[in-house]
Amino acid sequence: MAHLLVVEDDDTIGRALRSSLAVHGHDVVWCATGRDALEAGRVGVFDLVLLDLGLPDADGIDVCRDLRLTQPGAVLVMLTARDAEMDVIIGLEAGADDYLTKPVGLAELHARIYAHLRRVDTTLRSEPDDGDATAAVIGDLVIDLSARRVLAAGKEMPLRAKEFELLARLAAQPSAAVSRETLMTEVWDEHWHGSTKTLDVHIAALRRHLADLPVGTARPRITTLRGHGYRLDPPEPA
Ligand code: CA
Repeated sequence: MAHLLVVEDDDTIGRALRSSLAVHGHDVVWCATGRDALEAGRVGVFDLVLLDLGLPDADGIDVCRDLRLTQPGAVLVMLTARDAEMDVIIGLEAGADDYLTKPVGLAELHARIYAHLRRVDTTLRSEPDDGDATAAVIGDLVIDLSARRVLAAGKEMPLRAKEFELLARLAAQPSAAVSRETLMTEVWDEHWHGSTKTLDVHIAALRRHLADLPVGTARPRITTLRGHGYRLDPPEPA
């Protein structure tokens, strides 16, 4: 069972989400205002947050930013109107991990939530864990898959869930080209189709994290392969 926070002011959608998620065995807290959502974020601990960006009493992006701080371990999924491209980009930069566009089909919603929770909660994994590798080392970075953290010269990098998974996926094949489609399906959603701007925003964030490492850290570089995807290159020998 996962603890879910649903933030949705539309009564019909909120009720439908709550009952449908509860039927799937989740423990659901439903808030209809930004104020209630912030309060829930301060007192509870959630595995996943579904956040409608169009709220009556608060800017959804501000709520997103605040929940990112109070719920550092949660997967944050925004619900947006189909045409709100800018909201998506700003929301991802404000700390969201993923987004769904309205109207959201319940089958798609459950598939997406399951995919996210499976990565966070190992008890939901049906297959044996990621092979025999539990850590990858690249330059001064140790990517610890079992602890889901990255140490750079002994200090933990402040990565969000999807940033970690993206870096771990690239580091699984250092110096190899990995296509955008592979990254989207393996890091985000096996049923993914459509836009890949989520990927670009997360790559940009990873590059910032790598650039922020102390001078002298042997850090890998993320190389853009136009029309294909990305490659993680080991640091140049000193
Ligand atoms: Ca709304």
